[in-house]
Amino acid sequence: MSNADLPKIGFIGLGLMGKPMSGNLLKKGYTITVYNRSKKSVEELEAVGAKSASSPKEVAENSEIVIAMVTDAPDVEEVILGPQGVIHGASKGMIVIDMSTNSPDTANLVALGLEKKGLDFLDAPVSGGDKGAKEGTLTIMVGGKKEVFDRCLPVFKALGKTITYVGRTGSGQAMKLCNQVAVSIHTVATSEALLFGTSLGLKADDILKVLTSGAANSWNLQNLGPKIVARDFEPGFKAAHLYKDLKAVIRSLEKENLTLPAATTAYELFGAVLASKSGEKGTQVVARVLEKLAEREIK
Ligand code: NAP
Repeated sequence: MSNADLPKIGFIGLGLMGKPMSGNLLKKGYTITVYNRSKKSVEELEAVGAKSASSPKEVAENSEIVIAMVTDAPDVEEVILGPQGVIHGASKGMIVIDMSTNSPDTANLVALGLEKKGLDFLDAPVSGGDKGAKEGTLTIMVGGKKEVFDRCLPVFKALGKTITYVGRTGSGQAMKLCNQVAVSIHTVATSEALLFGTSLGLKADDILKVLTSGAANSWNLQNLGPKIVARDFEPGFKAAHLYKDLKAVIRSLEKENLTLPAATTAYELFGAVLASKSGEKGTQVVARVLEKLAEREIK
């Protein structure tokens, strides 16, 4: 049941994250208009009450708040500022929120483009995986004007559990890249611990049981460890997406004149994942690269 008092939401990008996030907004009573390049997920959301639009521009014409959850920086620029973009259908007072992962530079560029038309923008990337998107328990980190954040807080609460305002435009993306530094290293750490332990003759299930109950515990060990052991490399979060995030980290390292050796190693390992044509697999597939280097399997 939709609630007429709630703002009308537009949602662009209905992939592994965007589809369940849109579904959660519908469940909370929001009226939503969706757009996706490929049509299967649009039809699935229409079946549970969403309206559909033929372009991001048309989404904006029917919405008070528009959320983008697409892949990378050029995609965000295209759906927001491009010829068929949100900016051309927006009316005064509309708020645009980018929840994809890209970079502080992209957030600033998009915010500036929208500002010229008097439109507000928040960068609000997320963490918590497809599981968090489905369960509505995402961690959301938000940059932009505080008063705009306050107005959008109920919408964020429909999508996530831990919602933090982290500062001016671009700060949300900066926080997310910081998150990706830790995530990528944890994913490699999970794979290496399993590879090392099983090489020493330990049982993989025992390794996971012991490590997740002590100081080594992490989201990756808990959620991706069992998948590696079960040889399940289907994506919750695609390896190609983590590689794009690490590329943004590496670019800012050069700008900041900073060295992060472990994140740089993770970047190279995920580069090897893409070179082995496994970018569309889940990030846990990095275990296969390490297995190849070691010429042995985790079992
Ligand atoms: P995904 O499954 O690949 O979905 C991406 C969606 O964006 C697809 O619906 C795609 O449309 C659409 N899209 C991409 N480029 C577009 C363009 N130029 N114009 C219109 N639509 C476009 O990716 P995802 O896992 O949902 O991730 C989305 C974003 O969230 C990424 O920035 C990712 O890094 C971030 N993220 C993901 C996770 C996770 O665990 N999956 C967690 C946190 C953050 P098509 O269907 O037509 O290709």
